Amino acid sequence: MAPGEPPPFMSEAKHEHLPIVVVGAGPAGLSLGYELKRLGRSDFVVLDAGDVPGFCWTEMPRSLKLLSPWKENTLLGLPARALEAYSLKPATEFAAYLARFSSRYDLPIKTGARVERVERADESFVLHTTAGTFSADVVVNATGYYANPYTPSYPGASSTSIRQMHVRDFYDAPQVKELVGKSSPRVLVVGKRISAGQTIFDLYEGGADVAISHRSPIEFAPHPLILKGVFPFYYVWENFRVRLQPFYREDSYPPMEGGEIKELIVSGRVRSRPDITRFDGDEIVFADGAREAFDLVIYATGFRPALGHLSELLPAGHEHGPPVHEMESTSVPGLFFLGLDKLKTFRSRYLRGIREDARALAVLLERRLRGAKKRQRSTPPSIANVAKTSESASSRLTTKNAPEASS
Ligand SMILES: Cc1cc2nc3c(=O)[nH]c(=O)nc-3n(C[C@H](O)[C@H](O)[C@H](O)COP(=O)(O)OP(=O)(O)OC[C@H]3O[C@@H](n4cnc5c(N)ncnc54)[C@H](O)[C@@H]3O)c2cc1C
Repeated sequence: MAPGEPPPFMSEAKHEHLPIVVVGAGPAGLSLGYELKRLGRSDFVVLDAGDVPGFCWTEMPRSLKLLSPWKENTLLGLPARALEAYSLKPATEFAAYLARFSSRYDLPIKTGARVERVERADESFVLHTTAGTFSADVVVNATGYYANPYTPSYPGASSTSIRQMHVRDFYDAPQVKELVGKSSPRVLVVGKRISAGQTIFDLYEGGADVAISHRSPIEFAPHPLILKGVFPFYYVWENFRVRLQPFYREDSYPPMEGGEIKELIVSGRVRSRPDITRFDGDEIVFADGAREAFDLVIYATGFRPALGHLSELLPAGHEHGPPVHEMESTSVPGLFFLGLDKLKTFRSRYLRGIREDARALAVLLERRLRGAKKRQRSTPPSIANVAKTSESASSRLTTKNAPEASS
């Protein structure tokens, strides 16, 4: 920076200071927005990179279903109707539900605002986004996993003629046929969990020639009909466990679905292959030495927390999630997380955990900010603080319908 030049963020035209900025308007950001409004706050904004609230859910594969009953996925402000409580709904319906939720509560959401970088400036955070600069006393990161797909690297993968995509970019079988230009494309799906299972099913039903590559044996969930019978009891037990053992943590990655999907693999209609060793021209060499030609590889290899925009603040080496205490970063006070694995309980990454964590976090933030205000009244304000524009914030974020308390 040349002498006399203003700091980079100050030179940008648009910039607004708010007590709370939430990054991500998925189920986590929407839940927190609802809870904050419920506590009477309107001085916050939820920023999202997408063009609609719940953007990631509008991008999911066409066949993707929620695995748990509807009542476990709906947010606290808009619970499931009794008749639908145990139905299993497609992702498309959840995306529509999220849009309904955000307009019902008139949440202060700014879409088309990808946060590219967050930095500290005195007591505040400065967020550089594609829709201008914001500053905040507290940042809640609710960017989830879906925006950061993980793809393993294999020798020869960058020079092969075989097309490759992550399951994040897979929509349906017709999309694959068009991409490859064949009516029966040869597709290898890499992975062994739910999205791998749903993808092989979709492709097989759509007429593709499908194989699945997995490093270790596939674990299958019980048949969906058995699960349906068990669900009501399981969630009662889980609720009990969260209260009984609040500090219990476990790795919980739901296994591949049983029923028709399991049958496809067990019967050999979808061929099972071991791990990939390397790509060679239009062929793939597997760990057992076998080679096979494919038109397309789809990586159903999971996601990592989408935290790239926080790289200046967070210590390196925590790609599965930063160290936190009570949802707050242990190294960056004032930076909170919602929607990541094991943040508060063993179900913090699932929708039923996110909605509970959001309620607890809203209360915590309310206390924190109220305490800060009291301290501010008793000490002269810091001139270095970024100018507060709460007047413009409150006129921009007017509340149309105050949410009813749901419990
Ligand atoms: C394929 C898949 C299926 C799942 N199915 C279930 C299920 O059935 N039941 C269940 O309980 N859980 C499920 N989960 C787990 C989890 O509950 C969901 O992913 C849920 O959507 C998480 O909500 P979220 O708000 O934390 O993240 P997301 O829904 O991913 O929302 C994050 C938001 O942040 C935005 N964003 C990301 N980066 C930025 C940035 N830099 N700047 C601004 N905005 C940004 C995105 O556009 C997005 O709108 C599933 C996860 C995946 C990946």
